[in-house]
Amino acid sequence: MDENNIVVMKFGGTSVGTVEKINNVADRAIKANKEGKNVVITVSAMGDTTDDLIELSAKISEKPSRREMDMLLSTGEQVSSSLVAMAIIEKGSKAVSLTGYQVGILTDDTFSEAKILDVGKERILSEFSNGNIVIVAGFQGITEKGDITTLGRGGSDTTAVALAAALDAKYCEIFSDVDGVFTADPNVIPDARKINKLSYDEMLELASSGAKVLHLRAVEYAKNHGVIIHARSSFNNNEGTWIMDTEGFNDKMEQAVVSGVSYDTNQVKISVFGIPDEPGVAARLFSEFAAAHINVDMIVQNVSEKGKAAISLTIKNEDLDIAKKVIEKMKTTFSIESVQIDTDIAKVSIVGAGMKSHPGVASKMFSCLGENNINIEMISTSPIIISCVLRKDRVKEAVKLLHECFTLEKE
Ligand code: ADP
Ligand code: ASP
Ligand code: MG
Repeated sequence: MDENNIVVMKFGGTSVGTVEKINNVADRAIKANKEGKNVVITVSAMGDTTDDLIELSAKISEKPSRREMDMLLSTGEQVSSSLVAMAIIEKGSKAVSLTGYQVGILTDDTFSEAKILDVGKERILSEFSNGNIVIVAGFQGITEKGDITTLGRGGSDTTAVALAAALDAKYCEIFSDVDGVFTADPNVIPDARKINKLSYDEMLELASSGAKVLHLRAVEYAKNHGVIIHARSSFNNNEGTWIMDTEGFNDKMEQAVVSGVSYDTNQVKISVFGIPDEPGVAARLFSEFAAAHINVDMIVQNVSEKGKAAISLTIKNEDLDIAKKVIEKMKTTFSIESVQIDTDIAKVSIVGAGMKSHPGVASKMFSCLGENNINIEMISTSPIIISCVLRKDRVKEAVKLLHECFTLEKE
C-alpha cells in the first residue's frame, strides 16, 4: 500500500441525493482507486435528510436535548455512507463504510457544534491494506465518554479536511453542486465567475461572512494543518477552486483587489441605549455575552450624550433567545435605558487579499450602495474584508450592485 497516494473526496447532500448520484460517487471512487490511489470518501446525508430530521424532532419536542439531536442527525450520514459502500461493492470493487466512532474522530462534548480533537488513522490504513475504498460518515464524531456528536451544519466538509490532515493526503476534494467558489453565490448572481485560486484567509472571510460553499471550520482546519482544498462539481470534471497558502500563487492575476461578494441574512441587530459611558462598561457588557457563548459579530458604539452611550451589535439569529435573557439580566446590573432588537437586517461583505494595498475600496463600496439609495447602518473593516449592515430586503440587490461595481462578472 502506498501511503503517499491517499486522496480524500467529500460529496455533499445534493451529490448523494438520489440512487443515480450515489452510483456516480461510486464510479468516481472506483476510477481514482483504479488509478492506484487509496481513496477515502466522506459523505453528507442524502438531499434534505438533515432538515427533514430536524422538522421531525420539532413535532416531538420544541427544545430537544442537544445530545439526542446529535443521535438523530448523525443517522443521515450513516445511511448515505453505507449506500455508497454498497454501490461500490455492487460494481465489483471493495469498500467499507465507517462511522465517526469506528474511525476514531474524537471531539469535545459541545453537542451540535462539536470540535474535532483527534482523528485516528489506523483503522483506515488497515482497510486500505485490505484493498478497500473507505467511506466515512461525515459530520459526526464521538466524545471521550462515547457519545455521538455532530460538527455543526455543513460539517461534513470539516470531516473531510480533518481526514486529509490525519492521513497526510495530498489534497482534499470537496464536491458539491457548483463548479467551485464563485465571485458571489452563483444561484443569486448568474453572472458570477468561478475563482481559480483563493488564499486560506480570503476563503475564511468568505465562509464566515455567509458564503456557505465551504464550512468555516473546514477552512480553519485546512489552514492550520496545511491541507490544500479543491472545491469542485460532482456533476462534471471541470477544474474547480484551489484553496491554499498564498505562496502557492505564482500569478499576480489571482491577487484580486476584490475577489468576491458574500451576504448573510442570518443576523440580528441589538441596540442598547443609555448605558453609562465609563471605562470597563463595554468589557462587562460583552463578557456577559461571551459567558453565554454568544458570538458577537459587529459592534458600533456611538457618541455619548450626557455621559450615556449607545452600543449596537449583531449576533446570529439562533442566539437571539439566549441574548434576550442576557439583556434582561443586564438591565438589572447596568442602568440601561432601552433595548431595540431588529431582525430585518442583513450583512453584505466584499473580500479580497489585494485590498490591503489598494486604498479607496471602502469608499467605492459605500458610493456604490449610496448611489443606489441603499442605507448603510453599520460598517466593519479588517485588512481583507469590508462589511455593511443594511435592510434585509435590499441585500440581494446590494450583492448584485457590488458585483457590478467591482466588475467581478464573467468576461
Ligand atoms: P453541499 O451540500 O454539497 O455541502 P452546499 O449547499 O453546502 O453544498 O454549498 C454549495 C452551495 O453554496 C451552492 O449551491 C451555492 O448556492 C452556495 N454558495 C454561496 N456562496 C457561494 C460562492 N461564493 N460560490 C459558490 N457557491 C456559493
Ligand atoms: N448533513 C449535515 C447538514 O446538512 C452536514 C453536511 O451536510 O455537511 O448540515
Ligand atoms: Mg456544505
